[in-house]
Amino acid sequence: MNKERKLIIAGNWKMNKTVVEATDLVEALDRDLGTQTDVDVVVCPPYTALDAVSAKLKNSLIKVGGQNMSENDYGAFTGEINAGMLRDLRVHYVILGHSERREYQKESDALINAKTKTALAAGLKPIVCVGETLTQREANETESVVGQQIAGSLADLNTEQLKDTVIAYEPVWAIGTGKTATSQQAQDVHAFIRGEINKSHGEEVAKAVRIQYGGSVKPANAEELLGQPDVDGALVGGASLEARSFSDIINNTRN
Ligand code: PEP
Repeated sequence: MNKERKLIIAGNWKMNKTVVEATDLVEALDRDLGTQTDVDVVVCPPYTALDAVSAKLKNSLIKVGGQNMSENDYGAFTGEINAGMLRDLRVHYVILGHSERREYQKESDALINAKTKTALAAGLKPIVCVGETLTQREANETESVVGQQIAGSLADLNTEQLKDTVIAYEPVWAIGTGKTATSQQAQDVHAFIRGEINKSHGEEVAKAVRIQYGGSVKPANAEELLGQPDVDGALVGGASLEARSFSDIINNTRN
């Protein structure tokens, strides 16, 4: 696939996989993907498996990501994990503001913005998630909702920081539901997001920033979705839990 930006495909395992299951999965994935360098590949296991997965992938091109982190550097925050702790486990990326955290943990754009800045300051690349609900889409609010999330979550980032940030457009109604946005729906919102970045940070950053699509991506629909000009990769939930389906998604975009 001939793309303006290098594709980045990340697997969000959510609250799944024991240490043994996690290391088995990345071992198989590493075998399936071989030495391909066309696509940046990231796996995001639960915290408990990060160390073992990082060790397994020590000599691999597959990078490791966290699923969340604290906005604070250290201190009395029971149950939290900071950016330095992720770095310590050879983690390179971190998902921030996933819709499940926005919904269940009531994460706001301001909090996600604070986490994004903390991650970048520690040398982690944030994958910042945005996306509208079905009610918002049906009320024609997609652009205002996503525009607000982009402005709030990425507030005050400078040009270099934004280039190190990956944006994931994940319509909430498509996550884990088997309903996928059509490639045109995805392209329209991705182009809108790039336009917003162009307005706030200029053309050079807008052209460089990578925007992933997420929401029921599978081997069967990956090529069509990722073939869209402004879709630069995928954030994959369910289909990243098996080596074969995740590697098929990646390999299907490499033709
Ligand atoms: C996700 O949770 O980021 C996601 C896209 O999940 P799924 O692929 O299962 O819809």
